[in-house]
Amino acid sequence: MGLEEKLPNGVLLVSLEKLVNWARKNSLWPATFGLACCAIEMMTSGAPRYDLARFGMEVFRASPRQADLMIVAGRVTNKMAPVLRQIYDQMAEPRWVLAMGVCASSGGMFNNYAVVQGVDHIVPVDMYLPGCPPRPEMLIDAILKLHAKIADEPINAARAALLAERGHRTELIASSKKFAK
Ligand code: SF4
Repeated sequence: MGLEEKLPNGVLLVSLEKLVNWARKNSLWPATFGLACCAIEMMTSGAPRYDLARFGMEVFRASPRQADLMIVAGRVTNKMAPVLRQIYDQMAEPRWVLAMGVCASSGGMFNNYAVVQGVDHIVPVDMYLPGCPPRPEMLIDAILKLHAKIADEPINAARAALLAERGHRTELIASSKKFAK
């Protein structure tokens, strides 16, 4: 009798999912870019006092091809929006987005013609972090909450379908004339 027949249905797949997600959440590599003042707190999070390296993410990557976490640290202007989307598109799957601070999450106090009112108009956001600016402890807390989310994500076709649906939705928004200028 094969191993699959001896074990209850789904045991092997569930165990594989847990193993893959464990590896993914413990080796998140953020893309290197900051958009405004929140980026100073993000940089501080990587310094020895707060030591992001404890969570397997000491490597901020200069190439989006090598990054799987986009921390949007600061307000996003309409001019920057297509660039941000291009960086996101260049990151390989699986990838996650963290909106750091009120400006990235909703436009914050910059409710004007030049600023995108929430980066979720451009890319799908997995975690929103409030604050102006959020302190490094808050960023680390948000990252750990993202870890918990990743640990429970499906790695099979269900995730692919979810991402395709979300990607399509944001693609429509990002390619609108407003952001293409
Ligand atoms: Fe700057 Fe505050 Fe906006 Fe962050 S949330 S980019 S600190 S104004």
